[in-house]
Amino acid sequence: MINIRDINVYYGDVQVIHNLSMKIEEGKTVALLGSNGAGKTTTLKTISGLLSPKSGEIFYGDKRLDKIPPNMIISHGISHVPEGRRLFPQMTVEENLLMGAFEKSLWGKRKEKLEYVYGIFPRLKERRLQHGGTLSGGEQQMVAIGRALMSTPKILMLDEPSLGLAPKIVESIFELLQNLNKEGITILLVEQNVNVALEISDSAYVMETGKIVLEGNAEDLMDNVYVKQAYLGL
Ligand code: ATP
Repeated sequence: MINIRDINVYYGDVQVIHNLSMKIEEGKTVALLGSNGAGKTTTLKTISGLLSPKSGEIFYGDKRLDKIPPNMIISHGISHVPEGRRLFPQMTVEENLLMGAFEKSLWGKRKEKLEYVYGIFPRLKERRLQHGGTLSGGEQQMVAIGRALMSTPKILMLDEPSLGLAPKIVESIFELLQNLNKEGITILLVEQNVNVALEISDSAYVMETGKIVLEGNAEDLMDNVYVKQAYLGL
């Protein structure tokens, strides 16, 4: 389980996360919702060690995460699919995937993991020598997810995986997330597409201006008047 306790995160002098606490239970899908600029990306970056909280603690089981670098966090089994995919455009699909196993402890298993990822995304196998920059948006998202799966994550964090993609592709990505969750991967999902996110999640947190304003199980939140008005346009 990931236990975030009372973290405060700043960019320079500007505080963007205020006393945030969250729990991500093993085996669950948890959604992190909120409007633009609420601090969702910042929260994911803090969990994956790209940013350090000024105060507060992040634990994964009994391991303290907020004091260790991002490569160690990946080795602990926490993987991040960043907003906007962030592929290397001049590198091939396969080279991009291999970047996900670059950490010393993972490199030995890279071939086995490539086959696992190609099994999930046969399209990427067909296009293994194509440059990342020439892929469609949906294919780029497959590479970004595939790259994160190369490190055999126990927890997969995704930042707006549906952004800019056609509804059919979004549907297939969400189906994949459900399957990965059934395989035992815990999922933390940042999404603007609140309806779909709540449909596949067990529970959710809603953020506004750096604070958690609402939390609960997904079904209850779907019926919540505030969520309906603010995020579901009802
Ligand atoms: P979005 O859905 O638009 O990505 P978000 O909820 O993920 O929004 P964040 O990207 O975490 O929000 O941003 C939270 C706040 O921090 C915003 O006010 C944003 O302008 C600010 N911020 C983000 N990155 C930086 C940065 N590198 N330097 C300074 N401020 C930043």
